[in-house]
Amino acid sequence: MLNLCLIKASAPSTFKDYKKKRGGPPQSIFSAAAATPDTVALQMFDETVQDVDPAGIDADLVVLFFSTPDAVRGYEMADHFRKRGIQVVIGGLHATFLKEEAKGHADAVLTGECEAVWPQLLQDAERGQLQPFYHGEAVDMATLNPYPTHLIKPKTYDWVWSVLVSRGCKHNCSFCLVPGMLGKTRYRPVEHIVEEISNMETDWVELHADHLTEDRDYALRLFKALEPLKINWVGETTIRIADDPELLEAAAKSGCRYLLVGIETVSKEALKRSGKGFVKLDKLKDQIKFLHDHGIAVDSAAILGFDEHDTSIFKESAELFHDFGVDISVPAIMIPFPGSRQFAQLEAEGRILTRDWSQYDGAHAVYQPKLMSPQELEAGADEFYWEFNSAGRYLARKARQVAQFGPSMALNL
Ligand code: SF4
Repeated sequence: MLNLCLIKASAPSTFKDYKKKRGGPPQSIFSAAAATPDTVALQMFDETVQDVDPAGIDADLVVLFFSTPDAVRGYEMADHFRKRGIQVVIGGLHATFLKEEAKGHADAVLTGECEAVWPQLLQDAERGQLQPFYHGEAVDMATLNPYPTHLIKPKTYDWVWSVLVSRGCKHNCSFCLVPGMLGKTRYRPVEHIVEEISNMETDWVELHADHLTEDRDYALRLFKALEPLKINWVGETTIRIADDPELLEAAAKSGCRYLLVGIETVSKEALKRSGKGFVKLDKLKDQIKFLHDHGIAVDSAAILGFDEHDTSIFKESAELFHDFGVDISVPAIMIPFPGSRQFAQLEAEGRILTRDWSQYDGAHAVYQPKLMSPQELEAGADEFYWEFNSAGRYLARKARQVAQFGPSMALNL
């Protein structure tokens, strides 16, 4: 029997801290686990929320997944396992776009989605004959199994479990890898999602989709089907949900409590250039209030370091994000992920300052900004944090949240 170990690698960073606090089970290892047959002995670790000691792991095959900020840590683990004679496969976002680099640390690289090639990959590993590259094409979403709940328990994620709703996105934002990795949006059948949620131990669920309400009819069907389950859910969509009262009403009734919406920046020009012109700054205050009126809190990171940004952007962003009514916001220095249009452009302009992927964590300036120095950009991210969380703003926000969402949810925001 093949002894398989799946690991989501994660290095200490502000990126990890955010994921640990706000993230649920990661799609990469949980999808691979869901596709693994019972004939394989399976162990699984998520380093975002667990300590992982590679020396204590024994397996015939280790499959590592990670995105760019965790690549150095991932490669370190891969090298460790290979030294011990254990077969290593590397998959995930970073490896999909830099497969030759990943191959330098692995017996095989898995690009794209895992399911279509997973049986072949496991068979090859059992025979000790891995091919150098596997590419998984877009899978039929109706064939996916539910995430297993026995390998890493829901309590590990503070009882917020994750159910996959869709893969892909029809937009093409310049900094995002989703369209390049997963293509256009595909949805799971609503009844599969309802059944999976019905069998869960927890009533807090992340509806995992990069753009949950992209297909309005599907979203309406899903929300109506979820209503009888009486769950609380969190999801990721665009602020345009606030322009659709029927859809928002249905989301709220089905248990929506918290939405991640990508406002990104208060620079109109930067929004337009990066493909997010649909975020209208003059409408945001009313749109967010409408979400609040439905009991839904709003999380949006402030992306800093666009070419349109000078050093005045930090204070201005903090003031406006607070004024718009954003409930949670962390500053994130723009990360030009390899594989994105943004990375290609910065590289062509000779502005990439380092390929030390551990610095691609949203706290470091890894490229030359246009209107300030890298040091000013890094200091500015702190400035945003302290301005957004100044005593006056923090207390005002908490008082509003207590009134709007109740004390227990307000404390957790
Ligand atoms: S940032 Fe969001 S809306 Fe833009 S391409 Fe990525 S998933 Fe789609």
